[in-house]
Amino acid sequence: VPYTFQDASLLDVRSYVGGGWENSSENKTFAVEDPADQQILANVSDSSVADYERAIDIANTAFKAYRQLTPSNRGQLLRNWAQAVRESSRDLAALCTLELGKPINESIKAVAYAASCLDWFANLADQGCGGETIPSSGNGGRNRIWTVRRPVGVVCAITPWNSPYSGVLKKIAPALAVGCTIVHKPAPETPLCAMALAKTCQRAGFPAGVYNVLASSPGRAAVVGSLFCSHPSVRHVTFTGSTAVGRYLAERCGANLKKITMELGGNAAFIVFDDADLDLAVRELIACKFNSSGQVCIYANRVLVHKGIEKAFTDRLLVAIQERVRLGSPWDDKVTLGPLYAKAGADKIEALRADALAKGASLHTPDVYEDGSTYYPPTVMTRITQEMRISHEEIFGPLVAISTFDKEEEAVSLANSVDTGLAGYVFTQNISRLFRVAEELQAGMVGAQTGSISAIEQPFGGVRDSGMGREGSIHALEEYTDIKSITLAL
Ligand code: ADP
Repeated sequence: VPYTFQDASLLDVRSYVGGGWENSSENKTFAVEDPADQQILANVSDSSVADYERAIDIANTAFKAYRQLTPSNRGQLLRNWAQAVRESSRDLAALCTLELGKPINESIKAVAYAASCLDWFANLADQGCGGETIPSSGNGGRNRIWTVRRPVGVVCAITPWNSPYSGVLKKIAPALAVGCTIVHKPAPETPLCAMALAKTCQRAGFPAGVYNVLASSPGRAAVVGSLFCSHPSVRHVTFTGSTAVGRYLAERCGANLKKITMELGGNAAFIVFDDADLDLAVRELIACKFNSSGQVCIYANRVLVHKGIEKAFTDRLLVAIQERVRLGSPWDDKVTLGPLYAKAGADKIEALRADALAKGASLHTPDVYEDGSTYYPPTVMTRITQEMRISHEEIFGPLVAISTFDKEEEAVSLANSVDTGLAGYVFTQNISRLFRVAEELQAGMVGAQTGSISAIEQPFGGVRDSGMGREGSIHALEEYTDIKSITLAL
């Protein structure tokens, strides 16, 4: 690894439970791979179901005192955490490049964004969660109702590998802001990032047991998930990952009446009308396709281009890719496209590409992918049709799949022809059409004249098979609180 850690104590393969660091009670470990060369990076403690159960009990005990802290106490702790993240920002960025293969410049930005998420929720924590006063007709008009928001209790979080800092903090920070305590299972691909983040949390001075992080091997995910959904002390399960796993967890939480936040898969349409500013659309598509090697759930999956501009758009896109997208080692600061998170990512893209080619798609970029590699070259295909798997499945990689439409209604109906509803994008210089289409898209989030929509103040989440609940924005606090109404008879 071409990097020397300034603070080696950030690197830990144990779990963070009850304010301390421990190995799994079974003394087992699992291997984590470097996506750049597919060699083993570390062996990480593989927590058992009993370890998670103990952590839930600890979090439940910690909740009793933590919920009593004042809003400004909790705000200060979150602000300390942001500071601790900033102090370790170089090392945290390097870990993200190491485990995820994210180009180092992107990793540095990702850590800065993570710290800003903590600051943002620190400010919300300071303000506290206010309630309302409601006039009532009860008791001859003498009743008054007021409401207070209460933290739900222990929250269990399950997170994926693709955003190991801000993706985690968007769940953890609002829950901590309102007074909940947490047991977190990070993705088995990025446990070192999770443990380093927990180190910075420990340094921020949170009381022991408020935030607990335990990693486990892929084979245990289902039993750990079942525990989270059924343990009587757990009040809320917050999950980001695939629709299939989200459905499984939501069913079990339903059976046990636990609250859920589900951030699931997407299949975003990126619509470009014939009156669009093509340079803008191309620039935004590059941002919405190649950052993080395209492994972001809100990124463009289906590029729908008006048939009159297909050639002009594709030609400009190919030039822009040539000029701006550079595939290579994630440690090279001129590289903008690193490896995929694992070989499984490349296998999926290859299968979608082969299926599309067999069904008549055209390939516009050199056919240079080396079988077995995690480095996937930027790829552009046109003549994509509904019969192809690529129109219905998440690509999650640097492959642009372009199809055409004629009328506005056709664009909207194609965009809405999938079961998911996470994000959508629309490019046109006609302001009425921009609003109309943005409102018609079945998606929780729309980029109108932009492909960069992520911001901590944005309500982030999907509709339909993309899940429920919102992260980011003040609505995130609602996820982790219940409303209590108090009726007073005057
Ligand atoms: P991805 O394809 O992004 O890895 P997954 O939904 O498989 O999506 O994984 C997201 C997170 O969910 C990871 O932390 C993973 O370990 C966890 N996970 C996978 N399967 C299950 C399951 N059956 N129950 C609970 N968590 C699971």
